[in-house]
Amino acid sequence: MNKTPMTLTLTALGQQLRSGALSSRRLIESQLDRVHRSNASINAIVSIDSDRALAQADYWDRQIATGQSIPALAGIPISVKDNLCSKTGVTSCGSRMLRDFRSPYDAHVVERLESSGAILFGKTNLDEFAMGGSTETSVFGPSRNPWDLQRTCGGSSGGSAAAVAAGLVPASLGTDTGGSIRQPAAFCGVCGLKPTYGRVSRWGLISYASSLDTAGVFAQSVEDIAVVLQAIAGHDPRDSTSLPHDVPDYLAAVRQDHSIQGTRIGVIRDQIESPGLDPQVRSSLLEAIEAYRRLGAQIVDVQMPHSKYSIATYYIIAPCEASSNLARYDGVHYGFRSSAKTASTLDRMIEQTRSEGFGPEVQRRILLGTYALSAGYYDAYYLQALKVRRLIRQDYDDAFAKVDVLLGPTTPQPAFRLGEKINDPIQLYLQDLFTVGANLAGIPALSIPTAPGPDGLPIGMQLQAPVLAEAKLLSIAAAYHRATEYQPKLPAAFEDPTS
Ligand code: GLN
Repeated sequence: MNKTPMTLTLTALGQQLRSGALSSRRLIESQLDRVHRSNASINAIVSIDSDRALAQADYWDRQIATGQSIPALAGIPISVKDNLCSKTGVTSCGSRMLRDFRSPYDAHVVERLESSGAILFGKTNLDEFAMGGSTETSVFGPSRNPWDLQRTCGGSSGGSAAAVAAGLVPASLGTDTGGSIRQPAAFCGVCGLKPTYGRVSRWGLISYASSLDTAGVFAQSVEDIAVVLQAIAGHDPRDSTSLPHDVPDYLAAVRQDHSIQGTRIGVIRDQIESPGLDPQVRSSLLEAIEAYRRLGAQIVDVQMPHSKYSIATYYIIAPCEASSNLARYDGVHYGFRSSAKTASTLDRMIEQTRSEGFGPEVQRRILLGTYALSAGYYDAYYLQALKVRRLIRQDYDDAFAKVDVLLGPTTPQPAFRLGEKINDPIQLYLQDLFTVGANLAGIPALSIPTAPGPDGLPIGMQLQAPVLAEAKLLSIAAAYHRATEYQPKLPAAFEDPTS
């Protein structure tokens, strides 16, 4: 009973559902079975409404049976990071502060997924308020990497990445403020896209750093990323930074087997030659560069002179915005309120609530941000960081005048061990070296699996493209996977012996 009937790419599932070879109910039942068997070991999904998922599956089965045309994601389970609001269940942000918070509305991306037929299949674990890079600061405890349970799955969208990597869902949504989709995608051996800032509405995405926050997608293949991006991209008047531009046909761009001949791929030499880059990651990337060269791409060396300031810039701007965004959690408007007897005045109640409701990393960010924004320090830190941000954007503009995409590592090393860096915030922040630039510049960036290291741990390659060039980005990525005959694979412990 409840055998998993298929490989888990979304496009393959869609075909089976449409042809009647598989029913959505059977799919959802088998995935629920998988969750029951596997989730305890990885702690990827923190809540799931099985009855609602099954009822939706029945609805889509009836629709499919009528023979009418059905939306692209009809009957397919997709999980969503728990900082994206959903009317179903709680939206916790991985925090004690919002542990019991029930959103009165769905995030734009949740609405879009559901109107495209997807079935909301669980909320996924994250670092508290999406601050972190290892999914270890969640109130629900750490998630684990399906490829090695002693290692982190990355973060902050670690639960979403682990859920896809372990075959619990064919795709999931995450958010990326400084790398939180790409880094866990790299650690878990799946594809992860951070779209252009403004391409996907932030309505209902619980704010961390509003000028950097971007909702995006995890999936096993670039094609599947395209399908989900199609569903969630587009203008939304409820987000004032949402872009009004038309949404191209991403899947067509990916499927078009067009030649890479002449495509200019920029390689950021400083990144590849960086002494901090793990040799396994370097050799996997050099192999990928060779593969592109064989496909006829022109490999161009690119300089990004200001990228060395990107971590410092990001870790001023993000905490500043966070300190402002998180001011709303005061024990009155939302969520948790301290019941301590000492909370006898309004001020004391707010202080007590915030001390008990936020974990240490969130408190650290609030303190950093408040300090950098305070009178006397604003000019020296925040304003200065904004100026450097502009220079970083200029580096990208200059680079994209010469090349179509930029290629480099997603992370300095493969997945590190749980507990290895959690007590050393600077070490953790430095992991974001290659990813924060895309957020500061607002450009799209994708991590896709390249050849794994000798120990079998996944390795990710980051491709970055100009603003709104997702179609090109995805098609160049797909060409690499086509050439290397990439097949999504589940870790041995999560393979289904019955499939
Ligand atoms: N690791 C980065 C941080 O801690 C990025 C987080 C994110 O993208 N949400 O801020």
